[in-house]
Amino acid sequence: PLILGIESSCDETAAALVDGDRRILAHRLAGQEAAHRPFGGVVPEIAARAHIEVLGPLIEGALADAGKTLADVDAIAATAGPGLIGGVMVGLLMAKGIALSAGKPLVAVNHLEGHALSPRLADPALRFPYLLLLVSGGHCQLLFVEGVGRYRRLATTIDDASGEAFDKTAKLLGLGFPGGPAVERAAALGDPKAVPLPRPLLGSAEPHFSFAGLKSAVLRARDAGIHTPEDIAASFQQAVVDCLLDRTRRGITRAPGATALVVAGGVAANQAVRGALEALAIEHGLPFSAPPLWLCTDNAAMIGWAGVERFAAGASDPLDTPARARWPLDPEAEKVRGAGV
Ligand code: ATP
Ligand code: MG
Ligand code: FE
Repeated sequence: PLILGIESSCDETAAALVDGDRRILAHRLAGQEAAHRPFGGVVPEIAARAHIEVLGPLIEGALADAGKTLADVDAIAATAGPGLIGGVMVGLLMAKGIALSAGKPLVAVNHLEGHALSPRLADPALRFPYLLLLVSGGHCQLLFVEGVGRYRRLATTIDDASGEAFDKTAKLLGLGFPGGPAVERAAALGDPKAVPLPRPLLGSAEPHFSFAGLKSAVLRARDAGIHTPEDIAASFQQAVVDCLLDRTRRGITRAPGATALVVAGGVAANQAVRGALEALAIEHGLPFSAPPLWLCTDNAAMIGWAGVERFAAGASDPLDTPARARWPLDPEAEKVRGAGV
């Protein structure tokens, strides 16, 4: 099928055309870094307004790039959550309007499913089930991906997400926004052994994650005034890598039958993270898969691809499908958490 994918859940507005042969016929993306930079983080109201301004032209541009019209498209796939609700509403409403006027089905995509299936867009050899480390701006989870729509959460963060830790560290060190790439650049100039930083939950039995204590330690190291920002950044990045590695190693024991070790989400764009996980996969005799860097951070190709996978499986959604600020991939795990366990 040929799917129009739309993404607007955070501070990237994007439109893509993706087909069942893994071809990305077009992809247009507009970031909003400049608009948010003065505030050191994403401002939801500014984000929603920016999505409104650029989404229409991006969709028209993507169709033109591919030499297609809406008549050629089989379904419209848009992020319906989780994310900043104003932005999600902009993309989902646009998708509904197009679906209605063009007489095409709507596929409401969970943004996390977009990240979770994105490795399959780039890697035709990647089969289910696989163990996925999903590391993004708002999430840090180990998921056993059994199939399209079948995600079992093995572990999650008990406080901050890994991308959030990168963003907060960048802010604390005055490295700028967006934080992940800024920390990675600074880390390349520093010594990862220079600053002793904690590795929260390292060695603990459940494969959960924690980054809040690490962030506090970065703050103390900064205020101590002994180390350079580059050394702190390098030491921080090494601590995150050590934690992700240890927790994923533990997760592998909970994922018998996994055919590959996979990493996705914005933090998967980090070379140290990718390298460590690839080594872990090799250590366990598992194939390793990670999307190309541009498919790790938010984009519409992964939403289009999730649309392809879900549409091919017979899925479509009613036009009154709501936009959702929260939308867990694994409702069972969420119930347990809600019960205070
Ligand atoms: P979610 O997907 O959980 O809703 P999001 O969509 O905001 O959150 P992504 O776009 O997947 O998150 O990823 C953005 C995050 O990835 C940011 O926190 C950013 O700092 C981080 N990130 C991006 N590039 C890098 C990098 N090279 N190194 C480390 N972190 C990175
Ligand atoms: Mg972003
Ligand atoms: Fe994301």
